[in-house]
Amino acid sequence: MGKFGFNPTKFVHWSDPTAANLKYKEKYHTEYKKRSTTTNVQPKEKYSTTPYAAKEKVARNVNYISTNIKGEDSKQASQNDYIKRHLYVKSCVDKESPEWKFQAQKVSIRNYTPKVINQEINMGMWIIVMSSIIASLAQVANFAVGLGGNPLAIAGLLPIFAIGLTFMRYSSFDPESHPVDARRIYPEYDFIVVGGGSAGAVVASRLSEISNWTVLLLEAGGDENEISDIPALSGYVQMSEMDWMYQTSPPGDSPYCLAMIGDRCNWPRGKVLGGSSTINAMIYVRGNRHDYDLWESLGNPGWSYQNVLPYFLKSEDNRNPYLQRTKYHSTGGYLTVQESPWRTPLAIAFLQAGKELGYQIRDCNGELQTGFMIAQGTIRRGSRCSTAKAFLRPVRLRRNLHIAMHSQATQVLIDPNTKMAYGVKFTKNNRPFAVRAKREVVLSAGALSTPQLLMLSGVGPKDHLESFGITVLSDLKVGHNLQDHVGLGGFTFMIDDPISFKKERFQNFGVAMEYIFNERGPLTSLGVEGLAFVNTKYAPKSGSWPDVQFHFAGSSVNSDGDRVKQITGLRDSVYNTVYKPIANAESWSILPLLLRPKSTGWVRLKSTDPRVYPDINPNYFTHKEDVAVLIDGIRIGLNVSNTAAFQRFNSRPHKIAFPGCKQYPFDSDEYWECSIRHFTFTIYHPTSTAKMGPANDPDAVVDPRLRVYGIGNLRVIDASIMPAIVSGNTNAPTIMIGEKGADMIKEDWLHGRKSA
Ligand SMILES: Cc1cc2nc3c(=O)[nH]c(=O)nc-3n(C[C@H](O)[C@H](O)[C@H](O)COP(=O)(O)OP(=O)(O)OC[C@H]3O[C@@H](n4cnc5c(N)ncnc54)[C@H](O)[C@@H]3O)c2cc1C
Repeated sequence: MGKFGFNPTKFVHWSDPTAANLKYKEKYHTEYKKRSTTTNVQPKEKYSTTPYAAKEKVARNVNYISTNIKGEDSKQASQNDYIKRHLYVKSCVDKESPEWKFQAQKVSIRNYTPKVINQEINMGMWIIVMSSIIASLAQVANFAVGLGGNPLAIAGLLPIFAIGLTFMRYSSFDPESHPVDARRIYPEYDFIVVGGGSAGAVVASRLSEISNWTVLLLEAGGDENEISDIPALSGYVQMSEMDWMYQTSPPGDSPYCLAMIGDRCNWPRGKVLGGSSTINAMIYVRGNRHDYDLWESLGNPGWSYQNVLPYFLKSEDNRNPYLQRTKYHSTGGYLTVQESPWRTPLAIAFLQAGKELGYQIRDCNGELQTGFMIAQGTIRRGSRCSTAKAFLRPVRLRRNLHIAMHSQATQVLIDPNTKMAYGVKFTKNNRPFAVRAKREVVLSAGALSTPQLLMLSGVGPKDHLESFGITVLSDLKVGHNLQDHVGLGGFTFMIDDPISFKKERFQNFGVAMEYIFNERGPLTSLGVEGLAFVNTKYAPKSGSWPDVQFHFAGSSVNSDGDRVKQITGLRDSVYNTVYKPIANAESWSILPLLLRPKSTGWVRLKSTDPRVYPDINPNYFTHKEDVAVLIDGIRIGLNVSNTAAFQRFNSRPHKIAFPGCKQYPFDSDEYWECSIRHFTFTIYHPTSTAKMGPANDPDAVVDPRLRVYGIGNLRVIDASIMPAIVSGNTNAPTIMIGEKGADMIKEDWLHGRKSA
């Protein structure tokens, strides 16, 4: 048994198709069916996979959950069904019958799984083993008869060939092999895509589907690796070479990030193939249908919810059967989406709490967003599914697609007379290059780098560019309208039971082995286990466009204090006062997040040197209503802790105030405003710095077909174009923008459709 009574090697997987497990499943099914309809007691195997001791407590919790999912009326039936599906730590992912996996494997190349690959490896391994045996026999024979250079000796070379061939073949059929850095760069391509992130990887992949188009993808960073693959370690990729490590500028009149060193918040961005999708927390959320209807109503035809939903579906390969069955999810796309196969019991309590508070428990990516859910993630078989893995790896052998890593664009080449973009200047491994684009340059460098590049290339606010001596080619509000989701960080609740997600519970040998061999266990956790979209008193009365999002985690700052402190940039004084006293204690947290902030900021140049980071000022909380909404959201968070679902763990808020907020009584408005301005927490969703809008919108930078106003053959396709930030995490919406943007390019060039 592990240190915490957790023996991962004894983990029995619902999805494991071994004979032993099939037997187990059968028994389990019968048992479950019988008990869930007749008694309050659930089979106790349920928690056998968790590190959670205290048996009688577990039984009590199980009883609690069971009691509360009994006695369904028709309105509650779907919610109860949702909870039942997630009751079992292991049962929610992959398949509902042992056959499912087999069927899925046959569907398409994109459904390849390591299991399939393993079969091939097994074949390969057989060849290697057999060859080695032949080789050994040959060597023995050589030695025995003393005949060098005879046919047996030649046979001894065969295994070497066999090994070589096996591995060559392996990397060519494995759709998950890594892309290769382009060795040769042509002087000219049809399209140059700058930035291989959430959107750029999609654009490059889709454009290169046209075999007579040549595409160059320029990515400033390198490739992803095994560490970035592990969901639970996503915090460890930040502040590595895969991270640009931006920081906000110190605040002006409206203070924020006061608990951080220098009053500056860290803003990680992915500097790696896959971009921020390679370092993010993998939460898959699409936003609210009203967001897209708003975009269209602002003068952007083709961007309504009905118009964008097909693009979400086009990308998706959902691996949860209960979601696949709905019309809001699909299978067969490049991007794998699934729930983590592991969670703490607190996640179920979170759902229960939502129900107690009168919310629906539902797939918030489905018909309606308001409610509580288990987080869905861009993960594949327990590992991260970045856009590089999803969209670039399967097409990496296309001859018309060159992927140049460690290649940082420094300027878009624009003819000052014709105002047409015709190429890109970049440095690769510190050597300068210039490449021409026959058709278009596409900027997908993200909401911070895209505006910086535009401004360096002469596209931006006239006064600002002229102050740097840059010739203005198109006077546009580039870098304005910066929006981001922001909330209260470190909002912590203490519990008594040993059931939280602490570092020592996911960083140990057994857990690592479980991840490596079974693609399961705590390392597959997104960290954020549950999500909720709730209405404060300021939300639209319809109730269907929530204004606050909760990220629920079975952990908090104190669960992996050193790391969290480092990546958030928390001051020692703050950490030592507030979190050190509860270091490693059992806790959980909610991150209440403003979904549609009214405060907006900017990205501006600090220098004409492309290596100098821009001035990033989000202007958090300059609009008073943002503070008011968030405070109301925090109080809903307190109510979550007060539900019976959490009270059975003796949940209570951690009440040590930030050093600068001690003067305010706990739970007063002043206390919360002070806390928000101290532990200002963004989950890194900057958008809208190259706003999409109609020609008569003075703030618009691109038109509804994402073409930069005033400049030909130049588009922006990334999170920068959102006219207003979506009500939810921004990765899936950005991938959607990539899909739709690529389709627009195809329509324009292949079908001559040029008008908006
Ligand atoms: C730590 C973190 C956690 C997050 N968690 C989530 C989450 O859980 N769920 C969610 O939905 N969203 C999350 N997000 C946000 C989400 O990942 C982003 O909104 C999304 O990835 C933005 O996509 P993008 O294509 O606009 O930019 P990016 O994905 O950042 O891509 C930009 C790419 O361009 C490259 N680049 C930049 N400048 C240049 C240049 N000059 N030359 C060449 N290449 C360049 C970059 O290296 C990068 O690869 C998170 C973000 C971060 C940073």
